[in-house]
Amino acid sequence: MSGIYLHIPFCKQACSYCDFYFVTRTSEREHFVQQLLEEIQNYADTPYAVETVETIYFGGGTPSLLEPRQVEKIMKALQQSFQIEAREITFEMNPDDVSEPFLGDLKSLGVNRASMGVQSFDPDLLDFMHRAHSSGEALHCLELLSKSRFESYTVDLIYGNPNQSEEQLETDLDKLLLFNPPHVSAYSLTIEPRTRLGKQVELGRIAPPKDDKVAAHFDIVNQRLAEQGIERYEVSNYCRSGCEAVHNSNYWEHQNYLGLGPGAHSFWWDETAVRWENEADLRSYLRNEDTKETEQLTLQQLAEERLMMGLRTREGIAIDELEKKYDYQFSERQKEYLDNRQQEEKLKADKRIRLTDKGIKIADAIILDLVTLY
Ligand code: SF4
Repeated sequence: MSGIYLHIPFCKQACSYCDFYFVTRTSEREHFVQQLLEEIQNYADTPYAVETVETIYFGGGTPSLLEPRQVEKIMKALQQSFQIEAREITFEMNPDDVSEPFLGDLKSLGVNRASMGVQSFDPDLLDFMHRAHSSGEALHCLELLSKSRFESYTVDLIYGNPNQSEEQLETDLDKLLLFNPPHVSAYSLTIEPRTRLGKQVELGRIAPPKDDKVAAHFDIVNQRLAEQGIERYEVSNYCRSGCEAVHNSNYWEHQNYLGLGPGAHSFWWDETAVRWENEADLRSYLRNEDTKETEQLTLQQLAEERLMMGLRTREGIAIDELEKKYDYQFSERQKEYLDNRQQEEKLKADKRIRLTDKGIKIADAIILDLVTLY
């Protein structure tokens, strides 16, 4: 089983926090689609096309800047080149692009999961994040989605903004929860150096959010979503039972996937494990001159990755899996570290290691400590 990720590298404008690869030259969409079709066709009759494709994910950038006829061509090319038996086809969209006919067209093309980038309903915060949509568009879009025939949908939310009060976060959650979403991805705002926000922080114009404020926001998000039966299953992902994202869960378990489009990553593990990245440059991609950066991964690297990804999830990681699949045994120093964190009630370790609610808040620190103690 494998997955396919398609990177659609266009955005109307640059959100202030975003360091994904995208361009705002949307006039190149048609040419991009032609090139993407060629990239898909080049995989036909290769070993990568033999495994059944379980999930397809249109991400970006902003996939909803594509027209349905372009999505149709992409879907047809995928079907011609791969063994598609997709149980989940996710399509990322922004509220300002969505209409009822657009959702209907995507549904009839096989998309069964919408991923809506709302981030906030607060006009000031939307402005601060330089989002292209308004609060009203986000609400309208959620109304359309909740009435749509998609099997599932997810909403992205950002908390921990430097200017965001707890009241503003509560109001965002009030508005979101009225729609009873099956899945929510809630991220704390990260300050990336190459972004507009990163530059403002560097120049001292904005103070980055304080850790205790971010932790308080995290608690509010957890509590409010859990009260409505939307439980956390990964540090940033929450859902009703049975609505977990299959595509992302497969990443965390090292399932094979191909990434298509500029800047997309792929991971393939058969006899050896290899990760490669398409060059993040649309011009090179369109001229068919892009290069791929390939990295071969050792079992030790894979084990550490699995440990990191597993500890971020509710399921944690089975010690047995680490030993059998990755030939990884904890060192004495790691065992001692695990015992100490267990006494502090930050994790539970028996046959599996799972972080507790207390531990999940400092997941990154625990993971880093554990890996470096090997
Ligand atoms: S957050 Fe999404 S819409 Fe905004 S710039 Fe990044 S990819 Fe584009």
